[in-house]
Amino acid sequence: MKLVITGRVDPRVIQEIRSRRPDLSLKVWNESGIISREQLLAWSKDADLMITMLTERVDTELLEHAPHLKMVSNMAVGFDNFDLAALEKSHVLATNTPDVLTEATAELTMALMLLVLRRLRSAEDALRQYHWTGWEPDGFLGFELYGKTLGIVGFGRIARAVVKRALAFGMRVIIFTRRSLKDLPENVQQVSWEQLLESSDIVSLHVPLTPQTLHLINHETLSRMRPTAILINTSRGAVVDEKALIAALRTGKLAGAGLDVFETEPLPSDSSLRELPNVTLLPHIGSATVETRLAMAERAWHNILAYLNGQKPPDLLLPKLWPDKT
Ligand code: NAP
Repeated sequence: MKLVITGRVDPRVIQEIRSRRPDLSLKVWNESGIISREQLLAWSKDADLMITMLTERVDTELLEHAPHLKMVSNMAVGFDNFDLAALEKSHVLATNTPDVLTEATAELTMALMLLVLRRLRSAEDALRQYHWTGWEPDGFLGFELYGKTLGIVGFGRIARAVVKRALAFGMRVIIFTRRSLKDLPENVQQVSWEQLLESSDIVSLHVPLTPQTLHLINHETLSRMRPTAILINTSRGAVVDEKALIAALRTGKLAGAGLDVFETEPLPSDSSLRELPNVTLLPHIGSATVETRLAMAERAWHNILAYLNGQKPPDLLLPKLWPDKT
């Protein structure tokens, strides 16, 4: 069987694969940059199993190029790069890597809030460019997280990890999600969508990208937010209508934004976001820690290994494709 890995994963995982399953023929993308679509399609031809990154679209075209493919294991918790209907039609199993990136992404969410509210980027730039003339009572003033209202959209793994941190910072938390929530801790309250938009000092997005969440933040929703509010997005770029966001930031309808993800990645060279001073931009690094990327690669491999051992992969996205062996 041939296992294709479409990105440079931690060498410890490659070593584990080789030692646990020396029978597997392994093909790993070790070049610099992201594997091109052409190369990916060419590599799919004789692949039985694949570990993919979120940059690889697994759709009808790829599946048509991959007649032997049995399973595709995404090294990401989000799986909006997968066409689940096409995978189901082709009877190809699919998995993701939940949990292992929760803490790293929650940490980055807090970092973005601090970067934007305390204006850390421009303060550091000023110092580096020799503009810091000494401590002044009105120098580099930002706003604090303490006492602010944080609006959390979606209440899954990462959102919960952010809430824990926000409470430790002395914030009040309001949550919008589709399910009714019980036994919420002190200072945490479930609210309606409109209430969340209108009452938050910071809105932080933690939903997956789906047809229902595409452009969830748009002209209309932005106009309901406070002009002093900031938007934090560590989910997926297309949850926000970027054009509408740029307009709101330009016209002062929104005070700032901290973005780790974009509608088009990498961020196009002509994106106006770069010109806006009240925005902090990060290159999709929510899960980018040594610990987490190792854990993600291990989890992606362990899903494949379970399949090879005839066991149900723990993170199956289409459980109905798994033959019921009970
Ligand atoms: P999760 O545990 O599945 O949580 C997602 C939450 O979103 C659930 O509470 C879900 O509610 C809610 N939701 C889904 N659709 C909704 C809608 N239309 N309206 C309101 N709430 C909705 O996922 P997670 O592990 O926290 O990850 C969340 C997302 O973060 C991932 O999908 C991924 O795109 C992104 N992410 C980004 C990075 C990065 O590098 N920046 C890293 C990791 C993850 P229900 O229970 O009702 O479905």
